[in-house]
Amino acid sequence: MDDLRVGTAFDAHRLVPGRPLVLGGVVLESELGLDGHSDADIVCHALIDALLGAAGLDDIGTHFPSSDPRWKDSSSLDLLARAWALVAAEEWSLVNCDAFVVLQEPKLAPHRAQMRANVARALGCALDRVSIRATTTDGLGFAGRREGASCQAVALLRR
Ligand code: MG
Repeated sequence: MDDLRVGTAFDAHRLVPGRPLVLGGVVLESELGLDGHSDADIVCHALIDALLGAAGLDDIGTHFPSSDPRWKDSSSLDLLARAWALVAAEEWSLVNCDAFVVLQEPKLAPHRAQMRANVARALGCALDRVSIRATTTDGLGFAGRREGASCQAVALLRR
């Protein structure tokens, strides 16, 4: 019988002027971008932590610490591919993953297909195993005030 493992994760970063807004490896048009050591792609960060969590491999900060200059301004899509290599090395395969972005603007709908394609490529899986969705908070909280954005993710592994 298959061994199934689930992992969940959350990430949030501050929105600031003068930074690109990168989500799922797509650079979106926005006067505010996510601040962080890497490109601060919350979709990739949450997916990395969900995958590592499902595999029991600690967390993103353990494998890609912000104290390490190697990861400065790195592409989080590349970090996702590296994290997946760690998980796959333990013989896990991906059943599916789902990332849920909380962002006031811009709208993600026009970019979701490209985000899914980027994530599926990083994970070496079929497109239908990756889901990326989004909501606003109707103006409430830090997302609503455009102070930051967050992403929740869940991943299911099988071996
Ligand atoms: Mg992060």
